[in-house]
Amino acid sequence: PYSILTSHIKQTKKSIAHKIFPSLALVDYGYLKTSSYGGMKSTCVDALAHMIESRLNTNANAFSRAYAEEGMRLWASCKGCLETDERFAHMTDDEFSTFMQASVLAGMAIAYTGTSIPHGLSYTLTYENGVPHGKAVGVFLSGFLKKYGDSIEAEYVVKQLLGFYDIDAFRDYIRTLFGKLDMSEELWKKDRDGILANPAKLKNYPFELTTDVLDDYVSYYNA
Ligand SMILES: [Zn+2]
Repeated sequence: PYSILTSHIKQTKKSIAHKIFPSLALVDYGYLKTSSYGGMKSTCVDALAHMIESRLNTNANAFSRAYAEEGMRLWASCKGCLETDERFAHMTDDEFSTFMQASVLAGMAIAYTGTSIPHGLSYTLTYENGVPHGKAVGVFLSGFLKKYGDSIEAEYVVKQLLGFYDIDAFRDYIRTLFGKLDMSEELWKKDRDGILANPAKLKNYPFELTTDVLDDYVSYYNA
């Protein structure tokens, strides 16, 4: 049900109120096959972010969790495809199809819950620095997990659902895809303080957030 538009007046990207909901979705993994490697990494990590942010969300319920968890298991089964250009170039139809199914489940999960802090932080990075959406979200995911208020839940997601040894290994994986976060101190502060001052962006996060916790998102990812 979501549409995100760029607002030059507000100098960011913003969700518009959803007044429509599709009754039918045409899902064809053939479209993924024409993607560049960069486009594939970004869009697959965006889908992953939708599942992580939905699973660890104030609005999560039995249905959204089921979609997010099954989607993450599917996603995890193909995560090696994104690690190198060479591996991406040899992706099979089954692997494209699996990512497509995961992305549909991810969309169904956020239809219930909305997204959370990584998406909230990403829009400034995209608006100001032109960073593609999935990468802009992805660079905040490992910090979100590492500093999440319930570490047992976060580790369950990373280890049991996504198949990483621990959150550090997840961070290393994302950094292999996108490199370090390159954002000026000034822009980061604007982004961080903006989200902390916006109740609409905090309401999906079940714990209290502070400037220190958000600063740790960046230092942990870049460590
Ligand atoms: Zn997204």
